[in-house]
Amino acid sequence: MSLAFPARAIAVLALLSSAACGGSAGTSHTASSSTAARSSRIAVVTTISTLNSFVQGVGGNRVTVHSIVPVGSSPETYEPTPQSVVLVASAQILVENGAGLETWMHGLMQNARPSAPLVDCSQGLPRIGSNPHLWMDPVYAKHYVARIEAALAAVDPSHKATYERNAAAYDRRLDRLVVWIRAQLAPIPRSRRMLIVFHNAWQYYDNRFGIRTLGIIETAPGQEPNPQDFGHTIDLAKRYHVGAIFGEPEYSPKLAIALAHDAGIPVVEDLYDDSLGTNPQVDNYISMLRYDTRELVKSMR
Ligand SMILES: [Zn+2]
Repeated sequence: MSLAFPARAIAVLALLSSAACGGSAGTSHTASSSTAARSSRIAVVTTISTLNSFVQGVGGNRVTVHSIVPVGSSPETYEPTPQSVVLVASAQILVENGAGLETWMHGLMQNARPSAPLVDCSQGLPRIGSNPHLWMDPVYAKHYVARIEAALAAVDPSHKATYERNAAAYDRRLDRLVVWIRAQLAPIPRSRRMLIVFHNAWQYYDNRFGIRTLGIIETAPGQEPNPQDFGHTIDLAKRYHVGAIFGEPEYSPKLAIALAHDAGIPVVEDLYDDSLGTNPQVDNYISMLRYDTRELVKSMR
C-alpha cells in the first residue's frame, strides 16, 4: 500500500478540493444551474461503485455520490491514491461494504482524517467464512439500503421522510428483481446450476438462488492458481459439463480464456460483481444483476 505521502496528499488536497465536488459523472445539470443545487447536496463517498446505486436510490436528488475505487477496478487489489485522500476528506458520509473487503480503508481514513461518519453496510448480516461479497444477494441489499437510509436521516434529519419513501421504493425494486431472477432460473435443473468464476464473489447469490460455485480461478486476490489447482478446475468443468467459464472485466481474461480452451467450452469475459460497468446495461446494481443472471442462465441451458 502506498500511503506514505502526507505532504503530497495535502498539496493535492488543496489543488483538487474544489474539483472533487464537481466531478459527478453522469449528472445532466449544466454548470450554471447545478452549482446552487450541488452545494446543498450531501456529498456521499462510497468505496465501490456497486454501492452507489443504493445511495442514489435512497438519496435521490439530495445527494452526490462518488466511489473511491473507479468503475472497472477491483477493490481487492486497489491501492489508494492522493485523489482517494481528497475524496474521503471531502465526504459528508462515507459508505463501505465492510466484512473485510476494503483492507485499505483504515489507512486511507488515517491519512484523510474525515469528520464524516463511516457506514458499514454489511454489519449485522450473517457472513459465510471471510467472504465479503454480501451485496451480491439482492435480499441482503435491502439491509444495505436500510443502513444508508439511517445514515442519511441522521446527517439530514429534515428530509428523513424523503429517505424513508425512497428506501421503500428501492426495496420494492429489489423485491421485483428477486422475483425476476427466480423466474429466469426456474427452468434450469439443479444439476445444471454450476458455475466456474474468476473469484469467489458469487456465494451469497448462489445461496439465495440455489446455485453452486464449483470452481474458482483465483482463490486469493492477485494470486495466480498453481498448475494442480488449474488442472483440477478443468477436470471439474468437464465432469459437471459446465457451460462456460466466467471472467470479469476488472481482471485480465487470460486465465479464464486458457481454462475455457483446455476444458473445451466457451468463455464469457464480463461477469460483473465488484464493480459496475460503464455500459448502460450494467451501470447500476439492478441492471448489473439482470445482465449477470441472463449470462449465467445462458451458460446453464
Ligand atoms: Zn470481489
